[in-house]
Amino acid sequence: MTGGSDFNSPIIDLHEDISLYYFLGGYGLRFRPEDFDLDMEGRHGDIPKFKRANVKVVFSSIAHIIPSQNLSRLKQQVSGYGVKVGAMRIRSPTMITLEHIKTYYNLVSRYRRDLAVLLTKEDLRRVEEVNKIWFLIAIEGAEPLEDFEDVELYYMLGVRSLQLTWNFDNKYAATCMSKRDYGLTGDGVELIERCNELGVIVDLAHASKKSTIEALEVSKLPAIVSHANASAVHHHVRNLDDEELDALKKNGGVIGITMIQPTIGPLADVKRVADHVMYIVENFGVELVAIGTDFFGLLHVEEPRGLEDITKLGNLWSELEGRGLSRQDIERIAYKNAFRVIEANAANWRATTFS
Ligand SMILES: [Zn+2]
Repeated sequence: MTGGSDFNSPIIDLHEDISLYYFLGGYGLRFRPEDFDLDMEGRHGDIPKFKRANVKVVFSSIAHIIPSQNLSRLKQQVSGYGVKVGAMRIRSPTMITLEHIKTYYNLVSRYRRDLAVLLTKEDLRRVEEVNKIWFLIAIEGAEPLEDFEDVELYYMLGVRSLQLTWNFDNKYAATCMSKRDYGLTGDGVELIERCNELGVIVDLAHASKKSTIEALEVSKLPAIVSHANASAVHHHVRNLDDEELDALKKNGGVIGITMIQPTIGPLADVKRVADHVMYIVENFGVELVAIGTDFFGLLHVEEPRGLEDITKLGNLWSELEGRGLSRQDIERIAYKNAFRVIEANAANWRATTFS
């Protein structure tokens, strides 16, 4: 049972920076890195908490960023989030990404009884019957791809989702923090087409408005915006406005409602998070909404009150039930909508890309 509800819906969490937590030694978080099978006080998630919360799949993100004293990056990120989150920058993204991928495989080999990497259509069929937490490996920002064709290499290493940008402009797309929103580039178009062929789920979190709209026009498979909220409820550079939500709905994708306090609004708590869910449900339909907590990405940022870690999501389910959503609707938000998007992309997953 999780939080305040006796409804223990299965969960797919569309965004968690678990490898970043180990990689940066807990940088910015109030808890130090410890074994993942410990039910560690104050930690946002670990094997016991994911199990209690009934989490089935975690999009295990690779945030290939490093702490920096770079002043322009600090300024950009303070202006973007409205709070000091610490400056981060990108160096040697390819090498750092490989290390993150190894971190996920190392965790899985260490805790084989409880963890697995989601790689095949067969794995996806077994998600519900096997009592494991499945990592779906996802890259946060396409900088590690020196060429769009490199997505095939990462696919072969187990990557099944790719976010076009983090908070920096890159050769594929403009970021939500861009000073000049140039949208999707030619290489960006090629990259999305290649992702679709491989069934690598396109993720538009952190992308600019133009990049988002253009990418949703190009992608023939449902995409995700793995961790963001609604601009109409709280205006924030990371959130989606109605035009973007409409484009995502037409694409058949989902938005993962996120726990990043500056995107939720002032006095962020479970009610404010529910406001974002209800706005999208009422204006665009329940099939558009999923969950992408980003708990491990909350560097220097407080969690919303009532949603301090993954086991508290039950408080959100109770709040949503109180606002008239059925348990079927909540299960769609918690699990089924995201599963639908994974399944549509997984139809293109092949054992080897050369067969
Ligand atoms: Zn992020």
